[in-house]
Amino acid sequence: MNVLICQQPGQFEYVQQNKPVLQRGHAILQVKRIGICGTDLHAFEGTQPYFQYPRVLGHELGCEVVEVDPSSGFVPGDKVTIVPYFACGECVACRNELPNCCAAIQVFGVHIDGGMKEFISVPTKALLKANDMSFDELALVEPLAIGAHGIRRAAVQQGEFVLVIGAGPIGLGIMEFARIAGGKVIAMDVNTTRLDFCKDKLAVKHTINAATEDVLQRLKEITNGDMPTVVIDATGNQKAINAAFLYMAHGARYVLVGLQKGNLEVAHPEFHKREATLMSSRNATQEDFDHVMRCMQQKLVDPATYITHRVAFTDVKAQFESWINPANGVIKAMVELS
Ligand SMILES: [Zn+2]
Ligand SMILES: [Zn+2]
Repeated sequence: MNVLICQQPGQFEYVQQNKPVLQRGHAILQVKRIGICGTDLHAFEGTQPYFQYPRVLGHELGCEVVEVDPSSGFVPGDKVTIVPYFACGECVACRNELPNCCAAIQVFGVHIDGGMKEFISVPTKALLKANDMSFDELALVEPLAIGAHGIRRAAVQQGEFVLVIGAGPIGLGIMEFARIAGGKVIAMDVNTTRLDFCKDKLAVKHTINAATEDVLQRLKEITNGDMPTVVIDATGNQKAINAAFLYMAHGARYVLVGLQKGNLEVAHPEFHKREATLMSSRNATQEDFDHVMRCMQQKLVDPATYITHRVAFTDVKAQFESWINPANGVIKAMVELS
């Protein structure tokens, strides 16, 4: 079978490997769709922290079961996605039912080889089935689950203002699940095209361009002087993250979904007087995946609209680098295998 390996930053190579053999507790899946996300792009660029090469990327997958033990509850032909975070089951986080932040987590396509190949072997306990969903939709569950998890961390309440900073695919998912939770979404980015997308496709009422507008003034106008009680970063940009401490209402929660390598910096009196809560949000749990799949099945979200670029698996090597350039307007690139 054909496998795409990221040999080192900036270098992909197709190699031929044997198809995996069915092991106990696993299923063999035929990969049908691979969503490309920031992690894949950063891994290719060489800017992803703690990343090791060579590595097979790809963790946002829509697959068909081809071989499986029938006692697993799956049969060949089932359409599945995978929860790509493999937890140790023993550490303090796992014992407290927080496998998403397992101390020894192995993310498929990040810490271990992932899905940029024709067939994969995956533990059946990582599979989620939805025969009524398309392979595109199945591949979009994981990035949405990241957003759904962030909203669950923030415990968004009906009617509160939720400022979402960063309108990439993760930010878009955060906006959708903030809306579903009853929040009033304010979208912020520095890219007009992305903000227009939020208005036109996600019906986000309030948008702010941080590059051209007075952010504090606009937030005050939108919230009647209160400021947002939930702020969520989906930029992973140090400057944006540090600036956003001042966007919080008194008593607000600030959730970091995006990640960057530097330090956080906030004036302690500003943080303290708000009695603010700062949280990180890592990966997602099966509960988030289930919530996302239900919302997709009920048509509360239609993330297929995020797909701006499609490419055949055999063309990924040639196309991948172009997806990094913001000028190409990529929101979501989707790889297709037949
Ligand atoms: Zn991803
Ligand atoms: Zn663990």
